Amino acid sequence: MQAHADQGIAVVGAGPAGLAAAEVLADAGWPVTLYERMPSPARKLLMAGRGGLNLTHGEPLPDFLGRYHPAGRLEGAVRAFPPQALRDWCEGLGEPTFVGSSGRVFPKSFKASPLLRAWLRRLEGLGVRIRTRHRLVGVEGRTLVFETPDGVVRTAPRAGLLALGGASWPRLGSDGAWVGLLEGLGVPVADLQPANAGFAVAWSEVFRTRFSGTPLKRVALSAGGRTVRGEAMVTEGGIEGGAVYALSRPLREAIAAAGEARLSLDLRPDLDVPALAARLTDPRPGQSMATRLRKAAGLSPVAAGLLREAEGPLPVAAEDLAVRIKAVPLRLHASAPIARAISTAGGVRFEGLDARFMLAARPGLFVAGEMLDWEAPTGGYLLQGAFATGRAAAAGLLAWLRAEDGRPA
Ligand SMILES: Cc1cc2nc3c(=O)[nH]c(=O)nc-3n(C[C@H](O)[C@H](O)[C@H](O)COP(=O)(O)OP(=O)(O)OC[C@H]3O[C@@H](n4cnc5c(N)ncnc54)[C@H](O)[C@@H]3O)c2cc1C
Repeated sequence: MQAHADQGIAVVGAGPAGLAAAEVLADAGWPVTLYERMPSPARKLLMAGRGGLNLTHGEPLPDFLGRYHPAGRLEGAVRAFPPQALRDWCEGLGEPTFVGSSGRVFPKSFKASPLLRAWLRRLEGLGVRIRTRHRLVGVEGRTLVFETPDGVVRTAPRAGLLALGGASWPRLGSDGAWVGLLEGLGVPVADLQPANAGFAVAWSEVFRTRFSGTPLKRVALSAGGRTVRGEAMVTEGGIEGGAVYALSRPLREAIAAAGEARLSLDLRPDLDVPALAARLTDPRPGQSMATRLRKAAGLSPVAAGLLREAEGPLPVAAEDLAVRIKAVPLRLHASAPIARAISTAGGVRFEGLDARFMLAARPGLFVAGEMLDWEAPTGGYLLQGAFATGRAAAAGLLAWLRAEDGRPA
């Protein structure tokens, strides 16, 4: 089949990165067609909306930039479109934002759907055409090949931008199937791995039956020299939740290196060992360990149960017991599958890109969003990274077109 020559720009993947890129390109006056494999755009963004849509974070920019790993990769893109610019952009779409007590930024509506509706209206006004049920299956020279319900469609745009996402929650559209396609073009790709994911723990039958689905509140978790305060959740097969996600990179790396990782849980982060030991000293005669843990140490039933899940007998002496409560060792032996992770680590390696986010192996083809090799914790850093790289790759594409046409950069 003949490729339809197209003097416009093709953006593939209608998540936040692709939509942000399409907006910049159309704003610059280019005809843009946005291709998406699902029947409707931005399903993962809409899913994020169920949790209130944590768009970005209000902390100072140097701290914010420090959340991305590896350091520095997203710095230029985030500096060019920082958290305040994202908040202003949202407000411009009729969705003002606020900073919550944790520093996280949300739209006041706590929803993604009004923002997405207004955004799609703006894109339509800019002339962006959206082609859903178009799955990119091939890149042949400048030609992009799509599978659609009506058969194969080929297009040869002036330039292309891929924003195909990671591989978490594949039912929302991003399934990582692009890895083979890009590797076939000679693009270096780091293995896709679960980020912001839970981990497997071999709970005892008693503990699993009684406590799966129970939150561990106000705990501090440590691994790889980092400590995070927050909440975790005991699951059927292990442990998950915000504080666990924040440590998922060192934990994942330890499992890859040694087959297991050690997570240390502080069940009373508000008390130091001497203060806790003082409370645990001189138990009442005949007082059971369960009552002592509950009344003197103030532990919830799940926290007390967790103490018994650690290796070795539970210490009886007050000081030793306090030390254990402040550092319950857990052995994690696997990460949850990538399909259940919040986000994806790995992706297109930056060595395969130039500073404009263009693939060295395919001049004229740019890449943005979660499909790039970076990761960040939850807290708004993921969406900010998607928006910022989408816009930066679009700016890079425009600069490349200007250079191609011999116009000043
Ligand atoms: C449950 C959940 C809650 C989350 N909550 C938050 C949050 O509150 N804050 C936050 O910062 N982040 C959150 N995230 C993460 C955030 O949603 C993602 O990091 C972000 O959506 C990534 O944007 P993206 O555009 O790079 O990729 P995606 O949003 O994954 O979009 C990629 C698009 O490309 C399409 N596509 C894939 N392959 C093809 C193909 N071959 N052809 C055509 N189209 C294709 C997909 O269908 C998809 O629409 C959450 C994630 C999940 C799973």
